[in-house]
Amino acid sequence: HLNVTGLRKSYGDNVVLRDISFSVERGECVGILGPSGSGKSTILRCLNRLETSDGGSIMVGDTAIGPAPGLRNRQLRADLVNQRRLFGMVFQQFELFPRMTVLQNVVVGQRVVKGRAKDEAVERARRELDRVGLLDKQDAMPSSLSGGQQQRVAIARAVAMDPEILLFDEPTSALDPELVGEVLAVMRDIASGDITMLVVTHELGFAADVSDTILFIDKGVVVESGPPAAVIGNPQNERTRRFLSRMG
Ligand code: ATP
Ligand code: MG
Repeated sequence: HLNVTGLRKSYGDNVVLRDISFSVERGECVGILGPSGSGKSTILRCLNRLETSDGGSIMVGDTAIGPAPGLRNRQLRADLVNQRRLFGMVFQQFELFPRMTVLQNVVVGQRVVKGRAKDEAVERARRELDRVGLLDKQDAMPSSLSGGQQQRVAIARAVAMDPEILLFDEPTSALDPELVGEVLAVMRDIASGDITMLVVTHELGFAADVSDTILFIDKGVVVESGPPAAVIGNPQNERTRRFLSRMG
Protein backbone atom coordinates (compact mmCIF):
# COMPACT_ATOMS: atom_id res chain seq x y z
CA HIS A 1 0.00 0.00 0.00
CA LEU A 2 2.83 2.39 0.97
CA ASN A 3 6.31 1.82 -0.35
CA VAL A 4 9.20 4.05 0.60
CA THR A 5 12.53 3.34 -1.06
CA GLY A 6 15.87 5.03 -0.51
CA LEU A 7 14.32 8.27 0.74
CA ARG A 8 16.86 11.08 1.22
CA LYS A 9 16.59 14.58 2.63
CA SER A 10 19.18 17.12 3.75
CA TYR A 11 18.96 20.63 5.09
CA GLY A 12 22.16 22.24 3.88
CA ASP A 13 24.99 20.05 5.18
CA ASN A 14 22.71 18.30 7.63
CA VAL A 15 21.81 14.91 6.17
CA VAL A 16 18.56 14.13 7.93
CA LEU A 17 17.26 11.16 5.94
CA ARG A 18 20.14 9.08 4.62
CA ASP A 19 18.39 6.07 3.17
CA ILE A 20 14.91 5.29 4.44
CA SER A 21 13.13 2.25 3.06
CA PHE A 22 10.05 0.47 4.37
CA SER A 23 6.69 -0.73 3.20
CA VAL A 24 3.30 -0.85 4.84
CA GLU A 25 0.32 -3.02 3.95
CA ARG A 26 -3.18 -1.57 3.80
CA GLY A 27 -4.76 -1.42 7.24
CA GLU A 28 -1.47 -1.90 9.04
CA CYS A 29 -0.34 0.27 11.94
CA VAL A 30 3.34 1.16 11.95
CA GLY A 31 4.96 2.57 15.08
CA ILE A 32 7.96 4.81 14.44
CA LEU A 33 10.47 5.11 17.27
CA GLY A 34 13.79 6.88 17.47
CA PRO A 35 15.80 9.52 19.30
CA SER A 36 15.15 13.22 18.99
CA GLY A 37 16.51 14.56 15.70
CA SER A 38 16.65 11.14 14.04
CA GLY A 39 14.35 12.24 11.23
CA LYS A 40 10.96 10.83 12.24
CA SER A 41 8.95 14.00 11.61
CA THR A 42 10.83 14.61 8.39
CA ILE A 43 9.70 11.22 7.08
CA LEU A 44 6.05 12.11 7.74
CA ARG A 45 6.55 15.57 6.24
CA CYS A 46 7.99 14.08 3.05
CA LEU A 47 5.04 11.69 2.81
CA ASN A 48 2.38 14.39 2.96
CA ARG A 49 4.51 16.80 0.97
CA LEU A 50 5.08 19.42 3.60
CA GLU A 51 8.67 18.74 2.50
CA THR A 52 10.15 17.66 -0.80
CA SER A 53 12.67 14.86 -0.57
CA ASP A 54 16.04 15.01 -2.34
CA GLY A 55 15.75 11.50 -3.72
CA GLY A 56 14.29 8.04 -3.42
CA SER A 57 10.69 7.13 -4.04
CA ILE A 58 7.40 7.15 -2.18
CA MET A 59 4.50 5.19 -3.68
CA VAL A 60 0.95 4.97 -2.35
CA GLY A 61 -0.49 2.18 -4.44
CA ASP A 62 0.24 3.33 -7.99
CA THR A 63 0.61 7.00 -7.08
CA ALA A 64 4.12 8.43 -6.89
CA ILE A 65 4.41 11.06 -4.17
CA GLY A 66 6.44 14.15 -5.07
CA PRO A 67 6.52 16.73 -7.83
CA ALA A 68 6.08 14.95 -11.15
CA PRO A 69 8.74 15.97 -13.68
CA GLY A 70 7.34 17.97 -16.56
CA LEU A 71 4.39 19.46 -14.71
CA ARG A 72 4.19 23.21 -14.26
CA ASN A 73 2.44 25.73 -12.04
CA ARG A 74 -1.26 24.91 -11.91
CA GLN A 75 -0.83 21.26 -12.79
CA LEU A 76 1.89 20.92 -10.21
CA ARG A 77 -0.33 22.54 -7.62
CA ALA A 78 -3.30 20.30 -8.48
CA ASP A 79 -1.04 17.27 -8.26
CA LEU A 80 0.17 18.38 -4.84
CA VAL A 81 -3.39 18.76 -3.57
CA ASN A 82 -4.35 15.34 -4.92
CA GLN A 83 -1.36 13.69 -3.30
CA ARG A 84 -2.00 15.41 0.01
CA ARG A 85 -5.54 14.09 0.04
CA LEU A 86 -4.16 10.61 0.42
CA PHE A 87 -2.86 11.51 3.86
CA GLY A 88 -4.42 12.69 7.08
CA MET A 89 -2.19 14.28 9.66
CA VAL A 90 -2.48 14.64 13.41
CA PHE A 91 0.15 16.85 15.01
CA GLN A 92 1.52 17.19 18.50
CA GLN A 93 -0.16 20.61 18.77
CA PHE A 94 -3.76 19.94 17.81
CA GLU A 95 -4.03 22.90 15.46
CA LEU A 96 -7.79 23.16 15.42
CA PHE A 97 -9.26 26.25 13.80
CA PRO A 98 -9.74 28.47 16.86
CA ARG A 99 -12.66 30.52 15.56
CA MET A 100 -14.75 27.55 14.48
CA THR A 101 -16.88 25.30 16.63
CA VAL A 102 -15.92 21.68 17.08
CA LEU A 103 -18.46 20.62 14.46
CA GLN A 104 -17.28 23.24 11.96
CA ASN A 105 -13.71 22.05 12.46
CA VAL A 106 -14.70 18.57 11.32
CA VAL A 107 -16.98 19.79 8.52
CA VAL A 108 -14.83 22.40 6.78
CA GLY A 109 -12.21 20.17 5.17
CA GLN A 110 -14.87 17.79 3.93
CA ARG A 111 -16.62 20.71 2.21
CA VAL A 112 -13.56 22.48 0.81
CA VAL A 113 -11.26 19.61 -0.05
CA LYS A 114 -13.66 16.72 -0.63
CA GLY A 115 -16.47 18.85 -2.07
CA ARG A 116 -19.09 17.13 0.05
CA ALA A 117 -22.57 18.58 0.38
CA LYS A 118 -23.28 20.28 3.66
CA ASP A 119 -25.74 17.71 5.01
CA GLU A 120 -23.42 14.88 4.18
CA ALA A 121 -20.42 16.59 5.75
CA VAL A 122 -22.34 17.44 8.91
CA GLU A 123 -23.68 13.92 9.24
CA ARG A 124 -20.24 12.46 8.79
CA ALA A 125 -18.73 14.94 11.26
CA ARG A 126 -21.29 13.98 13.88
CA ARG A 127 -20.57 10.31 13.33
CA GLU A 128 -16.82 10.85 13.80
CA LEU A 129 -17.35 13.07 16.85
CA ASP A 130 -19.54 10.38 18.33
CA ARG A 131 -16.83 7.83 17.70
CA VAL A 132 -14.28 9.87 19.67
CA GLY A 133 -16.84 10.50 22.43
CA LEU A 134 -17.37 14.21 21.78
CA LEU A 135 -20.72 14.57 20.07
CA ASP A 136 -21.98 16.52 23.07
CA LYS A 137 -19.23 19.11 22.43
CA GLN A 138 -20.13 19.77 18.80
CA ASP A 139 -21.11 23.38 19.45
CA ALA A 140 -18.21 24.17 21.79
CA MET A 141 -15.23 26.28 20.78
CA PRO A 142 -11.86 24.48 20.81
CA SER A 143 -10.44 26.72 23.52
CA SER A 144 -13.07 25.49 25.97
CA LEU A 145 -11.92 21.87 25.58
CA SER A 146 -9.15 20.02 27.37
CA GLY A 147 -6.03 19.11 25.38
CA GLY A 148 -7.16 15.51 25.19
CA GLN A 149 -10.56 16.55 23.87
CA GLN A 150 -8.97 18.88 21.30
CA GLN A 151 -6.74 16.11 20.08
CA ARG A 152 -9.72 13.77 19.75
CA VAL A 153 -11.45 16.43 17.62
CA ALA A 154 -8.30 16.69 15.49
CA ILE A 155 -8.40 12.92 14.99
CA ALA A 156 -12.10 12.99 14.09
CA ARG A 157 -11.35 15.76 11.59
CA ALA A 158 -8.56 13.75 9.97
CA VAL A 159 -10.60 10.53 9.79
CA ALA A 160 -13.63 12.30 8.29
CA MET A 161 -11.53 13.09 5.21
CA ASP A 162 -11.20 9.38 4.42
CA PRO A 163 -7.44 9.45 3.90
CA GLU A 164 -5.66 6.36 2.69
CA ILE A 165 -3.03 6.81 5.35
CA LEU A 166 -3.21 8.59 8.70
CA LEU A 167 0.01 10.11 10.01
CA PHE A 168 0.40 10.86 13.71
CA ASP A 169 3.38 12.88 14.91
CA GLU A 170 3.69 12.48 18.67
CA PRO A 171 -0.04 13.04 19.18
CA THR A 172 0.13 12.72 22.96
CA SER A 173 3.42 14.49 23.70
CA ALA A 174 1.82 17.85 24.46
CA LEU A 175 -0.82 16.40 26.79
CA ASP A 176 -0.94 16.27 30.55
CA PRO A 177 -0.29 12.66 31.57
CA GLU A 178 -3.85 12.07 32.74
CA LEU A 179 -5.19 12.96 29.27
CA VAL A 180 -2.94 10.64 27.27
CA GLY A 181 -5.07 7.54 27.80
CA GLU A 182 -8.24 8.90 26.20
CA VAL A 183 -6.36 9.85 23.02
CA LEU A 184 -4.55 6.52 22.82
CA ALA A 185 -7.90 4.76 23.26
CA VAL A 186 -9.28 6.59 20.22
CA MET A 187 -6.16 5.74 18.21
CA ARG A 188 -6.44 2.13 19.24
CA ASP A 189 -10.03 2.08 17.97
CA ILE A 190 -8.95 3.54 14.61
CA ALA A 191 -6.07 1.10 14.34
CA SER A 192 -8.51 -1.79 14.62
CA GLY A 193 -10.27 -0.51 11.47
CA ASP A 194 -8.91 -0.56 7.94
CA ILE A 195 -7.12 2.80 7.77
CA THR A 196 -3.36 2.54 7.39
CA MET A 197 -1.58 4.34 10.23
CA LEU A 198 1.94 5.61 10.83
CA VAL A 199 2.46 6.72 14.40
CA VAL A 200 5.55 8.52 15.67
CA THR A 201 5.33 8.10 19.42
CA HIS A 202 7.24 7.84 22.65
CA GLU A 203 4.47 5.71 24.12
CA LEU A 204 6.29 2.39 24.04
CA GLY A 205 3.45 0.39 25.56
CA PHE A 206 0.99 1.71 23.02
CA ALA A 207 3.39 1.14 20.14
CA ALA A 208 4.05 -2.40 21.30
CA ASP A 209 0.35 -3.18 21.67
CA VAL A 210 -1.13 -1.58 18.61
CA SER A 211 1.58 -1.67 15.92
CA ASP A 212 1.88 -4.48 13.43
CA THR A 213 5.37 -3.25 12.65
CA ILE A 214 7.88 -1.08 14.49
CA LEU A 215 10.48 1.01 12.70
CA PHE A 216 13.40 2.14 14.78
CA ILE A 217 15.04 5.17 13.15
CA ASP A 218 18.40 6.62 14.06
CA LYS A 219 20.48 9.18 12.17
CA GLY A 220 18.28 9.00 9.11
CA VAL A 221 18.28 5.25 8.56
CA VAL A 222 15.96 2.43 9.56
CA VAL A 223 18.18 0.66 12.06
CA GLU A 224 15.75 -2.10 12.86
CA SER A 225 12.22 -3.05 11.84
CA GLY A 226 9.81 -5.87 12.47
CA PRO A 227 7.00 -6.93 14.77
CA PRO A 228 6.98 -5.30 18.21
CA ALA A 229 7.84 -8.57 19.91
CA ALA A 230 11.13 -8.55 17.99
CA VAL A 231 12.09 -4.86 17.85
CA ILE A 232 10.89 -3.88 21.33
CA GLY A 233 10.88 -7.31 22.99
CA ASN A 234 14.20 -8.57 21.67
CA PRO A 235 16.11 -5.85 19.82
CA GLN A 236 19.12 -7.04 17.86
CA ASN A 237 20.80 -3.72 17.24
CA GLU A 238 22.91 -2.03 19.86
CA ARG A 239 21.47 1.41 19.09
CA THR A 240 17.90 0.10 19.47
CA ARG A 241 18.81 -1.47 22.81
CA ARG A 242 20.37 1.72 24.11
CA PHE A 243 17.37 3.79 23.03
CA LEU A 244 14.87 1.42 24.61
CA SER A 245 16.79 1.19 27.85
CA ARG A 246 16.83 4.98 28.13
CA MET A 247 13.07 5.03 27.65
CA GLY A 248 12.69 2.66 30.59
P1 ATP B 1 11.96 14.80 17.58
O1 ATP B 1 11.84 13.46 18.26
O2 ATP B 1 12.71 15.79 18.41
O3 ATP B 1 10.65 15.32 17.08
P2 ATP B 1 12.59 13.95 14.86
O4 ATP B 1 13.10 12.55 14.81
O5 ATP B 1 11.17 14.17 14.50
O6 ATP B 1 12.91 14.56 16.31
P3 ATP B 1 13.14 15.80 12.72
O7 ATP B 1 12.19 16.84 13.17
O8 ATP B 1 12.75 14.98 11.55
O9 ATP B 1 13.52 14.80 13.92
O10 ATP B 1 14.50 16.54 12.47
C1 ATP B 1 15.65 15.88 12.04
C2 ATP B 1 16.76 16.88 11.81
O11 ATP B 1 16.38 17.78 10.78
C3 ATP B 1 17.10 17.73 13.02
O12 ATP B 1 18.51 17.85 13.06
C4 ATP B 1 16.46 19.05 12.71
O13 ATP B 1 17.18 20.10 13.30
C5 ATP B 1 16.54 19.11 11.20
N1 ATP B 1 15.44 19.89 10.60
C6 ATP B 1 14.12 19.56 10.64
N2 ATP B 1 13.37 20.46 9.97
C7 ATP B 1 14.23 21.40 9.50
C8 ATP B 1 14.07 22.59 8.71
N3 ATP B 1 12.87 23.01 8.29
N4 ATP B 1 15.19 23.30 8.42
C9 ATP B 1 16.41 22.90 8.85
N5 ATP B 1 16.62 21.77 9.57
C10 ATP B 1 15.56 21.03 9.90
MG1 MG C 1 9.59 15.05 15.46
